[in-house]
Amino acid sequence: MVDPEFIVADEPVSALDVSIQAQILNLLMEAQEERGLTYMFITHDLSVVQHISTRVAVMYLGTLCELSPAQTLFESPRHPYTQALLSAIPRLGQKRSRHVRLKGEVPTPIHLPRGCVFHGRCVHANRRCEEDVPKARTVEGDVQVACHGVEEGRL
Ligand code: SF4
Repeated sequence: MVDPEFIVADEPVSALDVSIQAQILNLLMEAQEERGLTYMFITHDLSVVQHISTRVAVMYLGTLCELSPAQTLFESPRHPYTQALLSAIPRLGQKRSRHVRLKGEVPTPIHLPRGCVFHGRCVHANRRCEEDVPKARTVEGDVQVACHGVEEGRL
C-alpha cells in the first residue's frame, strides 16, 4: 500500500479543469520516473492518453479492439473503431474533415451483439463479423488487433 509498483488509475483527472489536469499528470509522471512505477491508466480523454501512455489498449463495450505502442496507435490505427475514435480529434490546420462517421447506436451492454461487438456500427462488417468473435492477433511487431477485416487483409 505504501510503496506500490503498479497503480490502477481510473479516470483520475477527468473531473478536473485543464490546468489542474496538467499539474496532476506531471506529478504522476515525476513519481513514475522517481519510483519506477507502472500505471494502468483508464480514461476516455484521448489527449491524456497520448500524453501519458507508452502502450494503449482500446476497448469497445468491454472488448479489446487494439493493443499497440502509443506512438504507433496515434500514427496508424488499425482497428476501425480506433480509426473512428482518433478521427474525432480536432486538429489545427486540417482543411478537410477526416471524421469517420459511425452508423447506428451503441448497443446496450446487457445484450451484446453476437460476433464482433462493433459490427452494427462498422462500415466494413460482413457476414463473418456478425457471427464470429474476432480474436486479438499480432499484425506487426508489438501491435495486436481483433478484427476479421484486418486478419483477412481487406483493411
Ligand atoms: S471484425 Fe468486422 S465488424 Fe468488427 S471491426 Fe473488424 S471489420 Fe468491423
